[in-house]
Order: sequence, then C-alpha cells, then structure tokens
Amino acid sequence: MRLLPSLAALTLLARAALTQPYPTAWDPKLLERPDIKSAFTHLERGFPKQVDEWIAIAEMPGKSTHEAQRAAYVRKAMEAEGLRVTTDSIGNVIGVRKGTGNGPTIVFAAHMDIVHALETNLKVHRAGDTLHGPGIFDNSASVANMLATIRALNAAKITTKGDLIFIGTVQEELGLRGMEYWLQHNPKPDLLIGMDGGLGPVNYGALGIYWTKFIFTSAGSHTVTSRGKPTPVKALADAIDRIYKLQFAPLPEGAVINVGQVHGGVIFNGIPQELFFTVDLRTPDPVLLDSLDRTINRIVKEAADREKVGLRVVIEQKNGAGGTTAQLAGARAHPLVQTAVDIHRALGIRQGMPGAAEAVATGSTDANVGVTRKIPSIAIGRAYGGNQHTLTEWADWPSALPATKMVLLLAATFGDGIRTMPQRLVP
Ligand SMILES: [Zn+2]
Repeated sequence: MRLLPSLAALTLLARAALTQPYPTAWDPKLLERPDIKSAFTHLERGFPKQVDEWIAIAEMPGKSTHEAQRAAYVRKAMEAEGLRVTTDSIGNVIGVRKGTGNGPTIVFAAHMDIVHALETNLKVHRAGDTLHGPGIFDNSASVANMLATIRALNAAKITTKGDLIFIGTVQEELGLRGMEYWLQHNPKPDLLIGMDGGLGPVNYGALGIYWTKFIFTSAGSHTVTSRGKPTPVKALADAIDRIYKLQFAPLPEGAVINVGQVHGGVIFNGIPQELFFTVDLRTPDPVLLDSLDRTINRIVKEAADREKVGLRVVIEQKNGAGGTTAQLAGARAHPLVQTAVDIHRALGIRQGMPGAAEAVATGSTDANVGVTRKIPSIAIGRAYGGNQHTLTEWADWPSALPATKMVLLLAATFGDGIRTMPQRLVP
C-alpha cells in the first residue's frame, strides 16, 4: 500500500504552516501564582501613590542634559528598595535587582528627560481621568511605572534567576544618547525593554534617524555690489529644491525627509554671510538610510560648489535603522515580541486605534539601540495619552496600572529564562 498524502491533507498542512503562531512564552497560569497575585494587589493598592509620584516626577525639571533632579529622585527610590544603584558618567541611573543566578539579564529602560525648555511651567493639572502637563506622558509615566514595578516585585518577594537591570536613562530625546552610552560600556543584556510610547502596540523595530545641519558661508556684500556674487541663498534654495525632488517610497517601509529649519541673514541690504538648513531623514531601512544620506550630502556639496560658497556640515544625530518588516522577520519571531502582545491581550489593553497592529516593526525609543545591535528588544507603552512634545501633552492616568502590570509580567515571565510555551496550531 502506498501512503501518499491526499490533496486535502496537504492543504491542511499548508494552512497550518501559514497560521503557525509566533512563539510565545506567555503562560496564563502565571496570573494564578500567589506571588504574582500579591504583586498585583500591591500595585492596585499603591496606585494612587504611584500617580502622585508620577505627577511629582513630571513637575521636576527634566530637559535633556538637565535630568539631575529626576535622577537623584530615581536613585533614592531604587536604593530604598535595596537595588545596587550606580550613576554612570553620562547620568543614567542604573539599579540592579540581583537574580539567584544562571538566568538572563533583562534591561528595563525608562528615559527621564523631556523635550521642554527649562523655563516651561511643568505644573500638572488633573481633570477626571486625565492629567495635563508638558512631559506628563513622555516619559514621566514610564519612570513612575518602573519604580512601582520594583516595589511590587519586592513586596511580593518575586525572585528571578536572572538580573533585572532598571535604568533611568538620560538624553533619549537628543538621539538616545544615554542608552547608547550604557550599551557601549556594559556587557550585552539578553533582552532590552524600552518603556516609552503610548499604550497599545509592541514596537520591535527601529526607525533610523539622521539629523544633519548644512551651513553655507560667503564673504557677504552690500546689495549695491551684490550682483553676480556668490550667495548662500541660491545654494540653499537649489539644495532644498533638489532634496524635495528625490524619489523614494513613503513610510512605514520607505522614508521621509523634512527640512525643519531654515535660518540666516540678518539684514535686508546685503548678501548673508551665513545661512543654514537642517534635514531630518527617517527610514527603517538601513540601506535606504545611508544611500539617501549620501545623496543629500552630494546634492548640498554640488549646490555649494556651483555657487562657489563655503559649506560646513554638522551631524547632529545618527541613529541607525533596524530594518523593514521583511528584514525584521527574525526579530518578530523572538518570543519577547509575541509574549508582550499576549500579555497586552491578557490584561485587556486595547490598541490605540481600532484595527491597529499589535506588533510594529518600527520604533523611536531607547529600544532602538538594542534593535540595531541585534539584542532582542521591544518598546512598550506607559499609558494612553497624546500630544507628546507639545505644551498640551496629556495622559490617561488609570491606564498606567495595566501598563505597570505588563512590565511586572514581562519580568516574571523572562526572569527565569527565555523559554517558550509548547506551540499549538491555531485552526
Ligand atoms: Zn519618549
């Protein structure tokens, strides 16, 4: 008798392969573990205090490179919980919660800095479920969530085999500098979890971001004697015109280029001696990122040469790209991503917008520097909210509770090892 699979059986197999779920480490039985239940009770009872602490942090000065007061606060709170705390030379506050041994090292990072100028009034106003204030959403919420997680882990005496490293990072808003610095000076962690962004999606990618400032210079001249003389204005106009004519696919898989600043000249009646414009180039595709960057630099150089004006190029920020969705297929298949998605579902955390993807191959957080180093990395949200980086920033405070529970469940799930649950085929 010959055993040939029937067409129907082959179709079933093919369909099973297509619907094979991503590997997950999520085990719903974790929610029944007494120490996890006790940690949740601790979080729920302490939540009003967590919100108060969140507001207190948000009202501290926090402009990037001026995080000292927030850092001192975080350091004190971590020390009070018995963590081994250090502050590195860039200003990151690192609290290590030692594991019992032979487990993975997991980094949880929440940036302490905000974009708002030092003189900004950071007073927070509470109206119903909403908190209003510059920086209340990005990223004071995550800093408070992180501290609440540490306290709940301790209160419930949850142990992990691996070390949990909690980092209050600095200068995230200046190009992820604090996280970059930490990764440069420490052994690679096994997992990196950035706590940043609106609640809902799990970000497992990294949007590459290059910021470049192009400065044209000339000897200048009075208007009366300016005819035919080299002028930075023409070079700048020519360069910007050509940059906007570049052809490429749009985001999310392609790129975007924005000229955010054009400055220069101080008088009506003369050729300006200096003029500059800035380019904000973003794409998840590392190849496209570098090719567009080279093209832009070539265009600007040609414009300066043609007009015979001077050129200075200042690289303000260079954050690498993690890859397109296709390039990141391997990262998506790491259990960290699906586990985080499953924990969102288990906690009833809804997506920001109906139909929005649960896991997205992009990101603009501290997790980016992990993604580009091929460390399994995600960014998870802190609360629902909006208008970040504006003076009308707001956050929905009740949603910080499930966001914090999610952090705790991630720590408990991966703290003993990165194992996946037995796979079931979804019919
Ligand atoms: Zn942020």
